[in-house]
Amino acid sequence: MSFLTLSHLQKSFGSVRVVHDFNMSIEKGEFISFLGPSGCGKTTVLRMIAGFETPSNGSIAIGGKDQTKLRPNQRNIGMVFQAYALFPNMNVFDNVAFGLKVAGKSKAEIKTRVDEMLKLIHLEHLADRYPYQMSGGQQQRVALARALAPAPQVLLLDEPLSALDAKIRVSLREEIRQIQRQLGITTVFVTHDQEEALSISDRIVVMNGGKADQIGTPFEIYNNPATRFVASFVGTLNLIEAKVLDASASQIAIGDQQILLKKPIAKANGEKITVALRPEAGSLAESAKGDVRISGVVTSSHFLGSVIRTRLDVGGALVSFDMFNDPGTAPPALGERIHLNFASEDLMILAE
Ligand code: ATP
Repeated sequence: MSFLTLSHLQKSFGSVRVVHDFNMSIEKGEFISFLGPSGCGKTTVLRMIAGFETPSNGSIAIGGKDQTKLRPNQRNIGMVFQAYALFPNMNVFDNVAFGLKVAGKSKAEIKTRVDEMLKLIHLEHLADRYPYQMSGGQQQRVALARALAPAPQVLLLDEPLSALDAKIRVSLREEIRQIQRQLGITTVFVTHDQEEALSISDRIVVMNGGKADQIGTPFEIYNNPATRFVASFVGTLNLIEAKVLDASASQIAIGDQQILLKKPIAKANGEKITVALRPEAGSLAESAKGDVRISGVVTSSHFLGSVIRTRLDVGGALVSFDMFNDPGTAPPALGERIHLNFASEDLMILAE
């Protein structure tokens, strides 16, 4: 059942529409990410949920109650921003206590709740510190505790990790997800980082030009991208120009090689199409799953640590694949002709 419902949300600034007819039903306790490039409208949708922006059209409901006309402080929503945004003149305790004081809670209630929140973020020992005395990661945990202290119905996180360095980003995102699960709080997280969205979300909304291109689980988004944009934005992808040889026999050509697919192709013979293949779908080893074998000449090879991304020229079409780094096996040499195996179902035919 839908807990947070966004119906036909639109937003224009002047004559420019930046959010077009955005619809979504979010269940209680779900962790949703809005993922998309800069300017696609993620923050604007989030700010409309929070009440900082008024929709030009549409409505927002939480637990069946319409929120569209309520002010931010009437919505029972917690928010964490990209910049730490703690009150610099208050210590950690007072920052976390802020919302509780505004709500008129007693001193004893505030003390109990702040202690509970500091325990949740493992910073009980820093209650007396001021923001300038803490690392960025610690400040964001305090910002999270401050947002959660008044027990909001919905938590909104606007790129909360993007100012942090890579290692802290990964550990803090895991901590946020673990706290979110523990509290069962409905959460919307804005990010432009696909790895972040894939790793922590129940569902992802991939946004493009003010619209949701696809809403799905990380598994669905990655394995069955609905549009070319989703396919290229999420993960690394080969976009390969191919040609339909015989649509009734599901036969296509990539460069100078012929390939038989298992799925029907709704295209005309001779038509040019774009097919997509994840680099990790290809392998040098023949396997039961890999029913397609193409050959090509190695044109580049990049060592990425756990894998070596190798590019092949297949009669004019370029196809990259990832080889697992095996210290016992030398990667193929530049100019070498090799055979690449993959499963025909891993080849995606993209809608234009
Ligand atoms: P980013 O990751 O860069 O924050 P975003 O996907 O969150 O991007 P938004 O901040 O929602 O994008 O902005 C969407 C569009 O709306 C952008 O083109 C932006 O310039 C425009 N926009 C946002 N706020 C305003 C405003 N107050 N007045 C005019 N235009 C705005």
